[in-house]
Amino acid sequence: MNLLVGLVIVVCLVVCELDSQSAVEDVWTRIVAMLFVSLSVPGLAVFQTLVLNKRMELWDLPATEQEMTLKRLSACHSAVWLVASLMIVCAVEWPTVVRSNWGLDDWPLIDEVLILLPIVLSLVASWAIFYDVQRSPSGSGGCPCNNDSPPSRRILDPKRIAFVAIRFRVYFLMSLLPLTVLVLCRDVNAMNETSPIVTAAGYLATTVLVLVGFPFILGLLWNVQPIHDEQLTSDLTKFCKDNRLRLAGVRVWHTGDQISNALVAGIVPWFRRIILTDGMLNRFPQHELFAILRHEAGHIRLCHLPIRMGFVLLPLLVLAVAEQMGISVNHKLNSALLTIGITGQPDWLIISTFYAVFLIASLSWLSKKMEFEADLYAVSDPTECQDRKSDTLNQRANELLDALLRFASHFPEQLDRSTLMHPSLRQRMQRIILVRDNPHLLKRMQYAWRNQQLNFFLVLLAVCLAAVII
Ligand SMILES: [Zn+2]
Repeated sequence: MNLLVGLVIVVCLVVCELDSQSAVEDVWTRIVAMLFVSLSVPGLAVFQTLVLNKRMELWDLPATEQEMTLKRLSACHSAVWLVASLMIVCAVEWPTVVRSNWGLDDWPLIDEVLILLPIVLSLVASWAIFYDVQRSPSGSGGCPCNNDSPPSRRILDPKRIAFVAIRFRVYFLMSLLPLTVLVLCRDVNAMNETSPIVTAAGYLATTVLVLVGFPFILGLLWNVQPIHDEQLTSDLTKFCKDNRLRLAGVRVWHTGDQISNALVAGIVPWFRRIILTDGMLNRFPQHELFAILRHEAGHIRLCHLPIRMGFVLLPLLVLAVAEQMGISVNHKLNSALLTIGITGQPDWLIISTFYAVFLIASLSWLSKKMEFEADLYAVSDPTECQDRKSDTLNQRANELLDALLRFASHFPEQLDRSTLMHPSLRQRMQRIILVRDNPHLLKRMQYAWRNQQLNFFLVLLAVCLAAVII
């Protein structure tokens, strides 16, 4: 879902940029069409909710059938939202109305906000409607219907608002934040004509600021607070020291118990934070909590975030350096396409398509490997002496397995669900059991995965350089 929301917003903004900028006719018809299309999304949510409530007692079904039903409902709704968003941008030409007819093109951010508003609001309204039947976001709390009190039908019920707010924070704010910064930079830059070097320096400075400030921005957007339990705070400080983690601290994310998860935010060591959700603190006993924290420590110690960013940025860096050296990959691509009879294709479109496919494929492969790698780190203890190593491994593997099993018992749908970026809980548990029962495999597996990542990076570098040189 996160990826779909980000993708829809990026596609809409890119299509806006390609707009002809000449005013269109029938503005009122277009406004009515925009309203009709955006209202059709929550309209579908109302229909789906009514049908579901009428046809069956969903929560009396076994967990797997509930999951299948909700999956189908969610997939259908997401597809309709995707189509509706594209219709608003492409068929209704809503961006042209906002920018050219209303003349808001030169207003920093105002035009983008107005363009995205119907797209964002249509999904937010659907979430409010789905409150009665939906589950919380991935890695998160159970259905509100499983609570002791039945869900309220009131529109402004605080629980319904919290349910929508958490989704808005998780899905929209995370995609909108970097895009807002980028669009604002572009708009401000367009207002003052500056040299390309000043522009590039401005983008670089903004990127560095966002990278450094990310954990703090996230803290503000997600309601992340310090942990007030003194014993836990001192145990966490000791944990960070034992694992040689350079951090700005461990914080709790208040989600109203809707999400049970932990994550690392930030790439710069002195500003980086580990964030635990209240659901995790309340549901998991301390030994399991620390097993999860060891997994997060693995992500930090194994430099997973910088490696991911390296894969994202390397092709862009090679392209930028090539352009600076006067080697135009665009022209090369155009002439290569011409030789096979393809003409009139915009080269940027082909390059962006290649890049998007590469990003999705490589990040998916890398992220899954990194989850397994962080699990291996969580069960191993590099500081332990040799003869006690297998005891420690056995104990830590069992603690991590307990934590994953607890997670699966709270959220059964997560057991076999592997996403684009995450392996399923079952796949992770199978590997942990394999290493626990065969401790001699630990070093071999760690070495093999590191090697695969290095080889992949070298192949990518070679392909990028070949694209520039040949
Ligand atoms: Zn992880």
